Amino acid sequence: MLSFNISGIGKIELENAVFDLNGTIAVNGKIADKVKSKLNKLSENLNIYLLTADIYGTAEKLISDITLELVKISPVNEAQKKRDFILKIGKEKTIAIGNGANDALMLKEAKIGIAVIEKEGASQNAILNADLMVRNIDDALDLLLNPIRIASTLRQ
Ligand SMILES: [Mg+2]
Repeated sequence: MLSFNISGIGKIELENAVFDLNGTIAVNGKIADKVKSKLNKLSENLNIYLLTADIYGTAEKLISDITLELVKISPVNEAQKKRDFILKIGKEKTIAIGNGANDALMLKEAKIGIAVIEKEGASQNAILNADLMVRNIDDALDLLLNPIRIASTLRQ
């Protein structure tokens, strides 16, 4: 559980963090070591889910040394499937992180949505449906490891 207050919004109590894989956690098909270690640290406080259509068939290998649950979705109506997953695990206790057009609906539904630009860029829909935007996955994970920063940015 990760709990913190955002002035003007109220108490946030997160149990889940849902990430997109390609373009969000994986850059050029690789996950940086420091991203892996931050995810492992975050897994001490949150259930971490990685949603992917795994179009390159590399997901299992990529995440073999990270504590998280891999959730594969078929590459049809990905945006709706990602959103449905957020609804299933509870949107009020879930933060979502993604970059693509197919992440827009999960970013919108999650209690907090973070759009990541990284090297592939972020889709306009992802940005418009997110609560905040960061340059890269490293910054996104630092926000989750120091949630007071999220509260500072989102306070009204
Ligand atoms: Mg992506």
